[in-house]
Amino acid sequence: MSATYDFDAAIRRIPDFPKPGVLFYDITSLIGNAEAFGAVIDTMKHLYQGRRIDAIAAVEARGFLFATPLAYLLNLPTILIRKKGKLPGATVERSFSLEYGEDTIQIHRGDIPIGGNVLIVDDLIATGGTIRAAVDLLRESGACANELFSVIGLPFLGFRELLSDCSIETLVCYE
Ligand code: AMP
Repeated sequence: MSATYDFDAAIRRIPDFPKPGVLFYDITSLIGNAEAFGAVIDTMKHLYQGRRIDAIAAVEARGFLFATPLAYLLNLPTILIRKKGKLPGATVERSFSLEYGEDTIQIHRGDIPIGGNVLIVDDLIATGGTIRAAVDLLRESGACANELFSVIGLPFLGFRELLSDCSIETLVCYE
């Protein structure tokens, strides 16, 4: 079922959110549809089971929704990648540019498997800037971060070029 599942039909579009001109792909309709959500997690399981992965890193906040069920099914630890100031323990961090301004992500230093393969999961890759920062932070902290997954991809924003040194899986791409 999962291989041919119509994920697109389960994703709601909200025009002009959070600002005029942006078409927002809303995954609340996907996680609110048990069959569709199950198909996403089953597809992820089939993509990654048997692969050499040591941990799954989840990008705040919607990445958490897809990373943790997969980690449970594959019996792997989950690492949270959070906005600065949310994690209580000792962290490593990296800042990156946004359209307007800057943002900083953090990871608990002790969660990073040195020399281990980390799969990074998010709901959507747009420009790729956020997940690029996650890749770079994990790599500079001693992990191998080459595998990326997101439910949705917007390749017209150039993420394939920005992430050309990574292997990227998406379930739906929009042009
Ligand atoms: P980026 O760093 O440009 O790849 O942006 C990725 C993050 O922004 C993801 O975590 C998404 O949740 C969110 N995002 C960016 N653009 C959209 C969009 N059009 N619809 C929904 N979420 C978006």
